[in-house]
Amino acid sequence: MRLSNFALIAVAAAVLGSAAVAGERAVPAQMELAYFQKASIFHSGLRDAHTIALTFDDGPNAYTARVLDVLKANNVKATFFIVGKMAQTHPALLARIAAEGHLLANHSASHPELTGHFDNDPETLIYQLREVHDQIAPLMKQTDVLYFRAPYGYWRSAHAAILNADPVLRNYVGPIYWDIGGDISMHDGYIMSSADWDCWRHKWSAQVCAKGYLREIRRVNGGVVLMHCIHAQSGDLVASIVPAMVEEGYTFVRLDQNPEYKQYETPPTAPVVADALPLPHNVRFIASNRVK
Ligand SMILES: [Zn+2]
Repeated sequence: MRLSNFALIAVAAAVLGSAAVAGERAVPAQMELAYFQKASIFHSGLRDAHTIALTFDDGPNAYTARVLDVLKANNVKATFFIVGKMAQTHPALLARIAAEGHLLANHSASHPELTGHFDNDPETLIYQLREVHDQIAPLMKQTDVLYFRAPYGYWRSAHAAILNADPVLRNYVGPIYWDIGGDISMHDGYIMSSADWDCWRHKWSAQVCAKGYLREIRRVNGGVVLMHCIHAQSGDLVASIVPAMVEEGYTFVRLDQNPEYKQYETPPTAPVVADALPLPHNVRFIASNRVK
């Protein structure tokens, strides 16, 4: 979406009331702070809020179906960070995720570690995100917000500059990190936190792995939870966590229901630097990085 200058003036005037719109030449500072961030977004604002955002990475594959079944049975909506090559193989599951009210998000085409190698290969970096975008965007609602999570959480500020120059990808919020599910930790023989992929590497059962997730969630009282939906145990893990959290009164949200992330949404006027409409510094645009 690109607003006409007339619409922009109308928006600015609405924000400012009767204040004069003309007179400033610079692009507002906030506009340059939006888009992809130079560092991952670590702060979710959900800790101590008794609110959970479940996020499922790396799918979809055949095991994702059971995860969806469990979420549906508990009437919980989540966010799925999609890998393009997985979606290519499982298009029906990709469509099912969206159809059941979950939020699709971008986790790259082939899950590479986004190292400095990409600094000198911007086309490949852009391809890694555009390939997924082209698969998920047609399944998303106009009101859905675009989010990206970097594979392995690995990110460089140079990547932000490259992706923000892309007219489609600049509309993303990210990279999104997580509060819960990052690693396994033990204390006095108790599992204090879990990371699902590492649980399976240790040959733990879903029930044992769930103990770490539950203890960490209760300890920090909410947050963005990292899990994966592509393992044989994934469905059982969700079934061992979600009903307990529901029972304990936790609220479940998709990432686009988290007010903390609104500040990162990309203003719609940002690419229009060339036809530089003068706007005052205190103009703030809301809900702007919708699906294009
Ligand atoms: Zn991943």
